[in-house]
Parts: sequence; structure tokens; C-alpha cells
Amino acid sequence: MNIKERFLTYINFDTQSDSCNPLSPSTSKQLVFAKYLTEELKNIGVEDTQMDQYGYVYAHIPASEGCTSSPLALIAHMDTAPDMSGANISPRVITNYNGENIVLNKEKNIVTSVSTFPSLKNFIGQDLIVTDGTTLLGADDKAGIAEIITLAEYLISNPQHPHPQICILFTPDEEIGRGTDHVDLKKLGASIGYTIDGGILGEFSYENFNAADVEVTIHGISAHPGYSKGVLKNSMLIAMEFHNLLPVYETPECTQNREGFFHLNHIEGCAEKSSMKYLLRDHNYSSYQKRQQLIKNAADFLNKKYGKDTIEIKITESYLNMYEKIKSRPDLINHALTAMEEAQITPLVNPIRGGTDGARLSYMGLLCPNLCTGAQNGHGRHEFVSIQSMEKIVEILKNLVSLFYDGNNMGN
Ligand SMILES: [Zn+2]
Repeated sequence: MNIKERFLTYINFDTQSDSCNPLSPSTSKQLVFAKYLTEELKNIGVEDTQMDQYGYVYAHIPASEGCTSSPLALIAHMDTAPDMSGANISPRVITNYNGENIVLNKEKNIVTSVSTFPSLKNFIGQDLIVTDGTTLLGADDKAGIAEIITLAEYLISNPQHPHPQICILFTPDEEIGRGTDHVDLKKLGASIGYTIDGGILGEFSYENFNAADVEVTIHGISAHPGYSKGVLKNSMLIAMEFHNLLPVYETPECTQNREGFFHLNHIEGCAEKSSMKYLLRDHNYSSYQKRQQLIKNAADFLNKKYGKDTIEIKITESYLNMYEKIKSRPDLINHALTAMEEAQITPLVNPIRGGTDGARLSYMGLLCPNLCTGAQNGHGRHEFVSIQSMEKIVEILKNLVSLFYDGNNMGN
């Protein structure tokens, strides 16, 4: 099966995850796909393949002859985002795309327009797989799975291609932030690897935010407004004062690249009590700590002004920048860049303005930057993938696994 057929087969499986279901996996339909992938891997000759009760698929391709280097993991996720349906996807292949608006659905007047998605211009002459406008496509991350399995098939049938042991992992529930909850890194058996879950061809990320969630509770005193002089302590006004002590321009809407922010994402209140929630984000660990200090200083200042225990804050760390861990293995960065250049692809190194499963894995002991899949506009009806990008990514992966080969069989 070529990569296009493989991808089109995978998106027939509805694997949407569900954040409201506490079970693992969150939807049993993910198990159906996991089982299919397990069978497919066995059929192409990856004998050591198994899935567990949570739907994680583990597979190992033995190292090529004479290899002395440590195993390399390749990881992708099986679920699709809860944002939009992934059931009954009816894909369409546009051959030799001409750079015009793409009418996804004439009846419903759903169009992927060049004005909204200017990056379409980069795909002129390529073959694109698009949706009919009523579902997402699921290239996030079934393109990643198709690329890994196509590589696996190549390695099995070309034993002369040098590579370390390849440890494949397909995870459920990534889109709802639970992709690493039940992962067994011992079973996987690698301490370095890549997630294949990025976007446009060439994209490569080894940095993400340091992230904390902040809860602010303000305790006031309510009183009859007509007779409250010297008594009323309006928690909502103190909440506004608290917010105004934070830097005005350090918000998501005013920042990009490696600029951090405070994001007020929830507020509610009455005179007696108000509460606010913030997302605190920064790539740089020391500025991340300074941001936490600023929150504490603002609370201290207002507690001095309005009486102690007026403001309570709770800071919970959610994830950290994987670069802090990955910098100990520069080959993970350098080999990825070389593998792309060998395939005549210019790397686009982007710091992720969010978190990834790779960030969690990096702190669990599996250093894990993120490589591109060739997919675009994930989580929605305008999602598409270029077939040539997927093919190129398989070529990049072939180069990459040889760069990790150390041993005495090179060139045989
Ligand atoms: Zn993804």
C-alpha cells in the first residue's frame, strides 16, 4: 500500500476522543483503530507488536546489523480532536492543485479560500487531500501514523538501510491532554525519539512553553449599598486592581514567537467574593519564574492595602519547556535538521506556543522533539494534507534513522 492509500484507509476510522469520559481510552472506537494498526504492523513484518488495554500500540523493529547506538522512538497519536466530528469523513483528492479557492462543499457553500488560508499558495502543483466540509480530515495525526508505518515497511524490506532499534508508539487521547497518562516507557524501551505531530513540511520544534495555571480568589465584604460607608469591601473592584498590576501588553493577543504572557481566561464575582483564572506562559524558565513572582507581589501589595487574606493565589504548574531536557542531546536537534537538508527541505524551526505530549515525555525520561506531518489547518473542516509532503517526510525519516546509526556496518 502506498502512503496515500494508507492514509485514506486510516481516516475511515472515527477515533475522536472525549474529554468528558474519564475512562482510558476515552472512546472505545480508538481501540478498533489500535487493533487495526497492530495487525497492519504484524502483516508488514514488525513481529514485536502489541497493544495494551488502554489502546497504546507498541512495536519494535530490530536494529540493523552491527548497530551499537541506542534505540530511537517514533510516536504519533491515534485520536482526532473533539472540536469537530471525525465520523464518515469523505475525502477528496485534488490532483495538481492550481492555487485557487477550494470548494469543499458546493451545496453548503463551504470554501477553503486563499484569502483566509494564504499558505495554500505553497501547494500549487501538489496533490492535496481535503474534506467535504462537514468533518475534519484527521491528518492530525493519522498523517504521522501513515508516515511512521510507511517507514517501518521500508526498513523491514530494506535490511541494508542502517538504523538503530526503532520503537514505535501510537497513543490514544492526545487531543484531550491524556496521551501519556498510561504510557509504559519501559515497554517502549527508548530514551530519545520524536513525535510526528507537527504541521507544514519542514516544521520542527524542540521548545514549548513553561506553563502554569493561576487561580486568584478575592475575599470582600458585602453591605447594603446605601449604608455601606466604611464597611463594604467590593471584591470585584479589587480584582480589577489586581489585573491592572499586570503588564498591559503581555497578553496572548499582543505576543508571538518566544514572548510570554498572562492570559485572563475566566472571571466571575460579586461584592463578597471574586475569582479569576490566568494562564501563565513563557519559554524562558527564569522569566517564567519572574511572572510567578509578579503575581505574588501583586497579591502581597493588595493584601497590605486591604488587609491580609484579602487575596489568595494558587499557582499550579502544568508543563515545562522540553528544551531544558533536550539540550543535553543536541544530536536530536542536529540530526533532524540534517535529515531535512539531505531531503532538500529547509527546516522551519518554531518554538511551540503551547505544550505537546513530547514535552511531558521529555520530563518522563523520553526526550522527544516534534517533527512535521505535512498536515494543515487541523481540528477543523479546512484541514488538508499534501501527498507529496507526506512522501517527503518518509524520506526525511529514512535519513534521520540512518543518522542515528552508529556501528560497523555502515555502507554495506
Ligand atoms: Zn496532533
